[in-house]
Amino acid sequence: MLKHYRSANDYFRELFGCKVYKLALSCSDTCPNRDGTVGTGGCIFCGAEGSGEFAEICKNSSDLESAIAHAKKRVSSKTNGGSYIAYFQSFTSTYAPISRLEELFTAATERNDIVALSVATRPDCLSDSIMNLLKRISERKPLFVELGLQTIHETTAKSINRGYALNVYDTAVDRLHKINANIITHIILGLPGESSEMVEQTAKYVGKVTDGIKLQLMFVLKNTVLADMYYNGKYKPLTLEEYSDMLCRCIEILPPNVVIHRLTGDPPKRIMIAPEWAADKKRVLNHISSEFERRDMLQGKYFH
Ligand code: SF4
Repeated sequence: MLKHYRSANDYFRELFGCKVYKLALSCSDTCPNRDGTVGTGGCIFCGAEGSGEFAEICKNSSDLESAIAHAKKRVSSKTNGGSYIAYFQSFTSTYAPISRLEELFTAATERNDIVALSVATRPDCLSDSIMNLLKRISERKPLFVELGLQTIHETTAKSINRGYALNVYDTAVDRLHKINANIITHIILGLPGESSEMVEQTAKYVGKVTDGIKLQLMFVLKNTVLADMYYNGKYKPLTLEEYSDMLCRCIEILPPNVVIHRLTGDPPKRIMIAPEWAADKKRVLNHISSEFERRDMLQGKYFH
């Protein structure tokens, strides 16, 4: 089968010379879009755990020791040698007090078993003091910063209650490139009211500035505004066929150097409502592979 994109696995092997596993950690328990600083209620799709259902909570460097040990245990069935990235995933990982972030990020990157730091955040949560801290970290070890953009379209951004404008993302990208951070942008396929063309426009825009991308299916999770919309018939999730088609189109648009860190996502099963097909990740990935092959055949790629 042809290779259709630059995968995170391949990229990490190039960069670190070995297989690398992410240890999901949590240093923040809210975000400015929930606590009233920017908004309340959060993004309409966000579950109670703030996208970090499997992350190990740590508030200081002694928590970090046990959090890393637990996180390693969680991935142990998959590991066979290799190294680790400390991945601060939940809510907005630069929204905790700066003293806590300094302590945790420093302690994590001082460890020999941690080859890099990855921090998931919002582009409006990168104050000067956070940027200074991230700069110091990036001088020590590779730094990945994940930005939850989801879409470039302001109408959608408003309807999902994202809470910041596109130019905030643009500014964050410029500043992060200046400190040598590797930027991973999150986009969501299947947002309410978004056509395939709109998603492609987002992929095209992001592809020009980001180093990596996470392509994420829109899940409907329990106790969210999106769940109410779903039950009221105001939101219809994508079918597997629609998702695979949209995803392949995005990957075809993205420049080949952009690393694809995610093709679908892992919905937390105990709180997931729809789409039901998303619970079977193996089936989803197989379907995506078949869609790539179908497109190759149509374009006659196997015959050249
Ligand atoms: S997706 Fe991120 S920014 Fe939006 S409510 Fe959840 S934690 Fe906050």
